[in-house]
Amino acid sequence: MRVPYVAANWKMHKTVAETEAFLAELLPKLPDGGPEVVVCPPYPSLARAVELCGDRVAVAAQNMHEEPSGAFTGEVSAPMLVEIGVGAVVLGHSERREHFGESDEALARKLPAALDAGLQPILCVGENEGQRDAGETEAVLTRQLEADLAGLGDDRLGGLVVAYEPIWAIGTGRTATPEQAQETIAVIRAWIAARSSEAGDAVRILYGGSVKPDNAAELISKPDVDGALVGGASLEPSDFLAIVEAA
Ligand code: PEP
Repeated sequence: MRVPYVAANWKMHKTVAETEAFLAELLPKLPDGGPEVVVCPPYPSLARAVELCGDRVAVAAQNMHEEPSGAFTGEVSAPMLVEIGVGAVVLGHSERREHFGESDEALARKLPAALDAGLQPILCVGENEGQRDAGETEAVLTRQLEADLAGLGDDRLGGLVVAYEPIWAIGTGRTATPEQAQETIAVIRAWIAARSSEAGDAVRILYGGSVKPDNAAELISKPDVDGALVGGASLEPSDFLAIVEAA
């Protein structure tokens, strides 16, 4: 039985004061039990979010460097995140791959570094519109999974969270149909299960891409869809709460 997982990816939104206001509204309304809830604020708000969230909500960073320390100006390491109480990290988001050149090779180093430090990685994978139209979705995802997970032994795969995020659905208002999400996430699960059947059962795989209060329940009701990674609709506490409740 996999516990559902809903994460709010705020991207480069919300100051510390805005983070405080969001959490002051969300936290008292969160249902007991229910899905694991994670918020992913920008770096300056992480420590305050950890203080405010306590045990009910985990806090994730949106990126990290694979080395624990070194001459890497502008970067933040996994042990630094763990020291302030961060519990998870988004890796391989398509915006980081596209705008900041995050490569599969770097991800293959970041994933073991995150796990070694005690962070739960949320690995994002997904195809672009041209690749889907050309029938290349499965090949693209397989290539990403092979490359990104090359540094992890089979016994570590079950501890991951994977987010299937079709690039054509991110921030576009165009959501994958529940059938597309289910079918594609089943492909990801089968790939992981081929390396380890236990990991295939245990790994949580989320859908991300224009998830909203009115489409979340149907997407998450699919058997292989374990939750959602939410961008735009996670910026309003009431919208995000509705998605958490749908899960
Ligand atoms: C995301 O940034 O991971 C995302 C899924 O964004 P949106 O929900 O806005 O499409």
